[in-house]
Amino acid sequence: MANGVHQPQEQPTEEEILAYLFPKSHKCPVCDKEFMDFAIKKSKLRSIGTDTDFLTTYKDIDPNHYEILFCAHCGYAALTNYFNVIVSRQQALIREKITPNYKPMEFPVPLSLEHVVQRYKQALACAVAMDAKPSIKAFINLKLAWVLRKTGRSKDLEIRFLKEALAGLKSAFTTERFPLGNMDESTAKYVIADLARRTGDFAEAMRWVGDLIISKSIPGSLKERAANLKDMIRDGIAT
Ligand SMILES: [Zn+2]
Repeated sequence: MANGVHQPQEQPTEEEILAYLFPKSHKCPVCDKEFMDFAIKKSKLRSIGTDTDFLTTYKDIDPNHYEILFCAHCGYAALTNYFNVIVSRQQALIREKITPNYKPMEFPVPLSLEHVVQRYKQALACAVAMDAKPSIKAFINLKLAWVLRKTGRSKDLEIRFLKEALAGLKSAFTTERFPLGNMDESTAKYVIADLARRTGDFAEAMRWVGDLIISKSIPGSLKERAANLKDMIRDGIAT
């Protein structure tokens, strides 16, 4: 199925979900205090499908629910991979703009969807406050859109965050050095094309994928994905 696997799976029990998680302690780069958060046992994950924009579906659990690290002391939150990517000027901005408004929150595991969304929104607020790179803001928006897609509850909200991710990636494409996260230039073009398609801008999607297909340096696996994507764009398939 071109659009990945989104049929309702048999609901795992709380105990089954907890078996994927383990507590991990961290030191916050903003307030210097230690805190504990939960991480996913990646070796336990079993992939059961991948969407056109690289959202991977796993058995029992959506690991994107646990992709935000959140310091309970000062309110600094970020994607796990970028949590320590913060310079002193940005630390000061978090202390100035985020910490004074932060009211301590608790997030029991397994995380509720409401708490997952709250954690992503806090990471977005922090990224804006600290003037993070467009690619970093784009990845938070993209992963939040993915979380919402998996729940199947709000297509409109998913599209809203996909649009933010698209704008961020386009900006990053022209202002940042590659790779963007783990995306090289060809992969970034492909993802931009797919996000434009998913948000209904077929002309823009065709422009990016067309540019990609004529490129000589594109690897075979991506070439195949790009050809499939071009067909979907031509057919006006947005989901
Ligand atoms: Zn902190």
